[in-house]
Parts: sequence; C-alpha cells; structure tokens
Amino acid sequence: MYRVGLGFDIHRLEPGRELWLGGVKIPSALGAVAHSDGDVLLHALTDAILGAVGGGDIGERFPDTDPRWKGHASARFVEDAASAARDRGFTLVNIDATVFLQEVKLSPYKQRISERLKEILGAFWPIEGDAVNVKAKTMESCDAVGEGRAVSAQVVVLLASTAR
Ligand code: MG
Repeated sequence: MYRVGLGFDIHRLEPGRELWLGGVKIPSALGAVAHSDGDVLLHALTDAILGAVGGGDIGERFPDTDPRWKGHASARFVEDAASAARDRGFTLVNIDATVFLQEVKLSPYKQRISERLKEILGAFWPIEGDAVNVKAKTMESCDAVGEGRAVSAQVVVLLASTAR
C-alpha cells in the first residue's frame, strides 16, 4: 500500500536572521523569522511525512509556544515524523520538494540540500540515490515571496507499507 503526503510552509524574511533550507545554512542578507530555525523545507517535509501516515501536523507536535523548540534545529522535527512513520510500518519511496525564494539563487545549494535530506532520512530508511529531488523557483516578483519578504516550500512524499 502506498500513502502520499503533502507539506507546505512559509516564513517571513528579515535582515539579520539566518536562512536555513533543508538543514543547510544559505548565505543571505535576509533570514527567516521563526520560533525555531525557520527552515521551511524541513517544516514542509515534516508535515508531508506526518500527512502520509495520518500523524497530524508539525504545529500539534511542536507548538511554537513551547520554549523547548525555540531556536531549535528543524532536523529534529523531521526525525520525529520519520520515526512515527517507521513505527507505523512505512518506508520512504521518494520525496519531491520545491523551495520558493526570490533573492538568493539556490542552484549552487540544491545538491547539498538533497544530500543533507538523505542524511537525515537515511537514519530511518534506506534512500535510493535519486529518491530525493530538490527544486528551486523564484516567484517572478509576484506575491510576498516574489517581493523578497518571505520564503516558502512545498514537499510531496510517497511512503510504502508492506504491513497493510
Ligand atoms: Mg515553519
């Protein structure tokens, strides 16, 4: 049986903050405003995995009112979701992710980001070489992302279960 999950996240951008995408720190004059490290890709990935297994969402599991998650590296959220999915008998088939960001060109970082995602998820499942795809787009100067005021990400995940 296959299960699909979809995740989306957006954070505002401001000067003087760090920009983390997929667990990789991206050199940028603007960074994400967030309770955690504001990594939209890892937050969307967490929600996609949770969605695939009927596991709720990142806000339920890691409320931004909880001081434990202040400034926290978001790999922890993905690990929690992957652990929940593995416990329910699921393995990862593939991930397709898109980051939307206007100012910083991400092409030099996409490979590193996908390697980092494989490293995080590889602690839970064997990951095939081409199973994690990371894409980057601008928003063509439209909306908050296109005006450089925000960064967002979409992730779709396919999981397989041999148990059911
Ligand atoms: Mg978020």
